[in-house]
Amino acid sequence: MEWKGRRESDNVEDRRGGGAVKTGGISILGLVVAFVAWKFFGADPQQAYQVTKQLTTQQQPASSQAIQNPTAEQQEAKQFVSTVLADTEDTWKIIFKQQGLQYTPAKLVLYRQSTPTACGTGQSAMGPFYCPSDRSIYLDTDFFVEMRQQLGISGEKNSTQLSRQDQAGDFAMAYVIAHEVGHHVQNLLGISEKVYAQRQQMSQKQSNQLSVKQELQADCFAGIWAKYNNQRTHFLQQGDVEEAIDAAEKIGDDYLQKRSQGQIVPDSFTHGTSQQRIKWFQQGLHAQDLSACDTFQHT
Ligand SMILES: [Zn+2]
Repeated sequence: MEWKGRRESDNVEDRRGGGAVKTGGISILGLVVAFVAWKFFGADPQQAYQVTKQLTTQQQPASSQAIQNPTAEQQEAKQFVSTVLADTEDTWKIIFKQQGLQYTPAKLVLYRQSTPTACGTGQSAMGPFYCPSDRSIYLDTDFFVEMRQQLGISGEKNSTQLSRQDQAGDFAMAYVIAHEVGHHVQNLLGISEKVYAQRQQMSQKQSNQLSVKQELQADCFAGIWAKYNNQRTHFLQQGDVEEAIDAAEKIGDDYLQKRSQGQIVPDSFTHGTSQQRIKWFQQGLHAQDLSACDTFQHT
């Protein structure tokens, strides 16, 4: 993925400085819930809210200080995130305009370990997530390191095909951000609010099914973004789409559940199976407009 040299967004807040605290006293249950709900790509806002509420009751104050003297690695992480966020802003602005709408950018907060949000305290164990109440994406950049390790994105790509900029796993990371921005788009379009209201009236099983549809739509929106962003910037390089598909496969609920508990419990899915996630990302990649991402009608 080509990413250097393009505009960087001003909507990134870097809170990685100061005395980030280790959180103590979080219940095992809280951690398990957070793991299942949030491992990679964040959960839907409703769960985010519930889990954070559960976690905030037992933890120490979060750090929210601006970063000082960042390392070269931290600087580069911020540069990458800011460029991808700017890419989502510039591209979604065009897509919204085509629909006669105006795009309002999301904010993105970089933090370490924990930070206050309008949805409760954000914890790095939750993975990246979007809080609709403050229209912000929360991201602990250590997640990217962890993601590379856990998804096995460690190998070098064939360097003869790539420019020196390209790093293994960079597009998978951009896809994570694009998925969260997909939740922001749902928020702007009023979809999140409708889903939230409907889920209040439902059984847990139905509610989980609706959550899957919402998550798959965010994957589809990430695909649409990749397509239109590529038309604008030609940022995709050989192997990038496969990289995102590989990531999508490894973050399906079925895959994660199998790994963590050895069996699959479809009723508890909240993000969708690997196959569903790949299908909807690809659907977005080939879509003409947002209507192709109607996961609520067809899954
Ligand atoms: Zn999500």
